[in-house]
Amino acid sequence: RARPDADLLEGLNPPQREAVIYRGPALLIVAGAGSGKTSVLTRRIASLLRSREAWPSQILAITFTNKAAGEMRERVAQLVGDRAQGMWISTFHSACVRILRREAEAFGFTKSFTIYDSGDTRALLKRLVKEHEADAFGLTPGSVMSKISKLKNELADAESYARSANMSDPAERVFVEVFGEYQRALQRANAFDFDDLIGQTVFLFRAFPKIADTYRRRFRHILVDEYQDTNHAQYALINELTRPVGSDAQPFDGGGGMMIFEATPEPGSDTDAASLTVVGDSDQSIYAFRGADIRNITEFERDYPGAKVVLLEQNYRSTQNILTAANSVIGNNFDRKDKKLWTDVGAGEKIVGFTGYSQHDEAQFVADEIEALHRTDIDYSQMAVFYRTNSQSRALEEIFIRSAIPYKIMGGTKFYERAEIKDAMAYLVAIANPADEMAVRRILNKPRRGIGDVTETAIARYAADQQITFRDALANASALGVGPKIQAAIAQLDAVLAEAAEIMLPSSGELAPPTAVAEGLTLLLQKSGYMSALRQSKDPQDEARLENLDELVAVTREFARNNPDGTVIDFLTEVALVSDADDLEDASGSVSLMTLHTAKGLEYDAVFVTGVEEDLIPHRISAGEPGGPQEERRLFYVGITRARKRLYMSLAMTRAQFGEVTVAMPSRFLQEIPADLIDWRQSPGDVNSRGGIQSRALNARRPGGSGGGFGGAPARRFGDDLVPKSTALDRFPNRIPARVRDNGDMILGPGDRIRHEDFGEGRVDAVTGEGAKRVAHVRFDKVGAKKLLIKIAPIEKI
Ligand code: ATP
Ligand code: MG
Repeated sequence: RARPDADLLEGLNPPQREAVIYRGPALLIVAGAGSGKTSVLTRRIASLLRSREAWPSQILAITFTNKAAGEMRERVAQLVGDRAQGMWISTFHSACVRILRREAEAFGFTKSFTIYDSGDTRALLKRLVKEHEADAFGLTPGSVMSKISKLKNELADAESYARSANMSDPAERVFVEVFGEYQRALQRANAFDFDDLIGQTVFLFRAFPKIADTYRRRFRHILVDEYQDTNHAQYALINELTRPVGSDAQPFDGGGGMMIFEATPEPGSDTDAASLTVVGDSDQSIYAFRGADIRNITEFERDYPGAKVVLLEQNYRSTQNILTAANSVIGNNFDRKDKKLWTDVGAGEKIVGFTGYSQHDEAQFVADEIEALHRTDIDYSQMAVFYRTNSQSRALEEIFIRSAIPYKIMGGTKFYERAEIKDAMAYLVAIANPADEMAVRRILNKPRRGIGDVTETAIARYAADQQITFRDALANASALGVGPKIQAAIAQLDAVLAEAAEIMLPSSGELAPPTAVAEGLTLLLQKSGYMSALRQSKDPQDEARLENLDELVAVTREFARNNPDGTVIDFLTEVALVSDADDLEDASGSVSLMTLHTAKGLEYDAVFVTGVEEDLIPHRISAGEPGGPQEERRLFYVGITRARKRLYMSLAMTRAQFGEVTVAMPSRFLQEIPADLIDWRQSPGDVNSRGGIQSRALNARRPGGSGGGFGGAPARRFGDDLVPKSTALDRFPNRIPARVRDNGDMILGPGDRIRHEDFGEGRVDAVTGEGAKRVAHVRFDKVGAKKLLIKIAPIEKI
């Protein structure tokens, strides 16, 4: 009789098949990009369900983004139908929120806790840094924030950190104070920050083995995609979940006088542990800066002895030319297991390289090529443009808008970071979690009601005296000892909040109607006077703010349609967990624009990797970081391997960034691609003038002799077949466009008049900088003030 999952194995190659059907405690699938890791994970889930080895509720699958989770869920549903319901397929953060919502009461939180995003965290730390005068010790809210995040990813808290830190250093002492205070503030506000979602779940499991056992018993099959980018806290979480059920609990001192019970496995009960499948590619580990630890995957076999390892090498995504380029680049990283991807789809088209005069020229090229591809019947949604830094999208967007190319920025959506949206969300938080003092303080005087700092302090003092929350103190306006007008304003706010709470949080037993969030939000925005204040304003920006608030109300309606039982807490959770790669709008029919980091796991017919320049990829901040250039190379590798059929790499000779115009150098990574893989193109109308900046720049960058030429690049391993003997840079166009001048000797001073090819005539206001970096500040007659790099700007003195 045929296996019930036979059709699931169709078309799979032998190792893929093995990865789907293997049954055992631990399975590691390591493989390069596009070899079917995610597909195999999906089929494995389907196979477990189809063969009835697992109930849907026994499956926990972790993906890197909510978007990836949605796609995996859909894919499984296509394979097994309704049975897909009830599985947990989500990100680490979403899974932990679900667990914490159920269990938070065990350790002093309530179900309605708030999730602080990085903006909230920063705001809170800003206050604490000020209160503790920590800036006197060189601490900034940003530096404290990243340090705390790093520690939390390592599962360290303020107390454990204090034990290892040099506490005679006053800066360390004040950091520990701020960290401790920050944590207490979160607890008081009934809030978790992003890192806490994972860390506190681990803490919960360790402190309450009975609770941990519930989940160990429940999740019999745990599967993790993109395992190479897990951090220590996430590793520990998986570790807790894959311990045998009923593990003995050994108390240990968790610090701060709290006894913690660490579960240790009971001998002989190993069979009780859930089965764990992880898939990943250490060459695609690109989140070290967020605490990802590549050792989680490289040491998997040590952590899970007896784990089965499956290697996949056949790539089903890209053409051979694209793969060869990818293999050649990544082969320059040391400390890696060599693996080579191959495909049987053939060489395909060559990679197209382009050097523009400026980022605008580069963007124009991208736009022109997109139109050309579109004419050959490649859908816009099958094209993507990647860049290293968000600011690079500006030039692209300008040209796309002008060329009427539909596009969508992924992860660039800053909708929820807008002030008016944050205000509206704070109103909702004030209802859902009244303990969240920061939210209540935020809306206290929005719109302006005449409640100033003095009153705010009076409310806070009253709350402290009475040992009640800030929100409850509001309800006692008459006891605050403030003037009658202010008292009336506070009472009015209190009444609006109370009225909205009745709609959104009906008294026990009753269920709020699906439209409760939309209705409650509308009521809050109207009765608080927030909308009318914007309507009466003369600021043209306020028109846009009103539209954004309408959009938010529309989002709540959409939420109600998708989640008929969804509460205001569910809504806030969903918004808090929108991650970089999750776009809110439908991207179909549009070209996708995104950073290289966001591109992980995705694939497109045509891919443009833009800004392939030194200081961008590798990024200049990575140059001094240990392992920085290697991580940048992995990022570049991720970008290349997203392409199915067509790959473009472009750069600009000059780029306005970091507040100045710079002469850009081609990325060192271009040197790692064999010459015959790239066809170089240039701006139209360029001439063959030899010499000049570009060729000089390139000559300076040629590696001389052995050992590689420039800072940070690994030694070229001559003789190694991965490293091409002639490289893409050897055929890099050794010409400069006509428009690039070498005005290095041009003397300019304030008052001089000049003519610019594009901008016309103007007057020099000032000259700053030195040598090749001299900048003329020019006021043009027609286009206004511009800053020009004298050395190369197309200008002449008149
Ligand atoms: P990444 O490392 O980028 O995350 P991946 O290893 O997860 O890649 P998938 O995204 O699962 O790879 O697969 C890449 C592409 O190859 C997908 O379009 C997938 O449908 C296709 N694919 C995978 N396996 C096969 C197969 N056996 N036959 C045909 N196509 C396949
Ligand atoms: Mg994948």
